[in-house]
Amino acid sequence: MARIELKNLRKSFGAFDVIKGIDLEIRSGEFMVFVGPSGCGKSTLLRLIAGLEDITSGDLVFDGERVNNLVPSKRGIAMVFQSYALYPHMKVYDNMAFGLKLAHAGEDEIRKRVLEAAKLLQIDHLLDRLPKQLSGGQRQRVAIGRAIVRDPRVFLFDEPLSNLDAALRVQTRLEIAKLHHAMNNVTMIYVTHDQVEAMTLADRICVLRDGKVEQVGTPAELYESPNSIFVAGFIGSPK
Ligand code: ADP
Ligand code: MG
Repeated sequence: MARIELKNLRKSFGAFDVIKGIDLEIRSGEFMVFVGPSGCGKSTLLRLIAGLEDITSGDLVFDGERVNNLVPSKRGIAMVFQSYALYPHMKVYDNMAFGLKLAHAGEDEIRKRVLEAAKLLQIDHLLDRLPKQLSGGQRQRVAIGRAIVRDPRVFLFDEPLSNLDAALRVQTRLEIAKLHHAMNNVTMIYVTHDQVEAMTLADRICVLRDGKVEQVGTPAELYESPNSIFVAGFIGSPK
């Protein structure tokens, strides 16, 4: 579990400011959802938290420790993307075990963790298959399983369901909610542009607009008291 603080966080690509001073505290164990229009900086923000982009200015703090200069593998994060990015030539088991092998975990420990994660996600009957022999939903579960086995303190999801059809989206969404509870409420940060996903998954929702925070609150708070027409348009009732 981890408490994550963003302190006046900024990111520019050359002269182009993308993240324009974000202050936000994400509580330990919280399910925080970022929503906002395409291009507002959601993916960039996740990549900053993950350490996949350098911070231009400001601070990023995990459990009281400044992590600005910590490489991704030392941050204890796991990231699940919209495209599953599985290794096509590796069986499900090896896809899930890959990160642990890189981290030099022992063979028994790897097997134990992969089997546990596979059970949790109900993919334990698929471990000998190749990615191309799986459905889209199953592939996404393998991608999530690959993240779980590394026992992260923070889970980052970037629109993980947007490549799935409607029925699978609902099912996988419920599984992610279950996962949050099963993992002792590991901190989750979840990006989506889907209002239903945001409303049903979030402890709190952070609405982003043009690289800044427009409003943060529980789904009920944002629905009942949106502070702008912009927020109302995204998740609120008509204001
Ligand atoms: P979102 O995920 O909310 O759709 P992104 O974080 O992907 O938005 O992008 C925010 C803005 O930053 C966009 O205008 C995008 O073109 C720009 N951007 C993202 N990555 C880079 C990059 N590596 N170089 C230059 N501009 C980028
Ligand atoms: Mg994005």
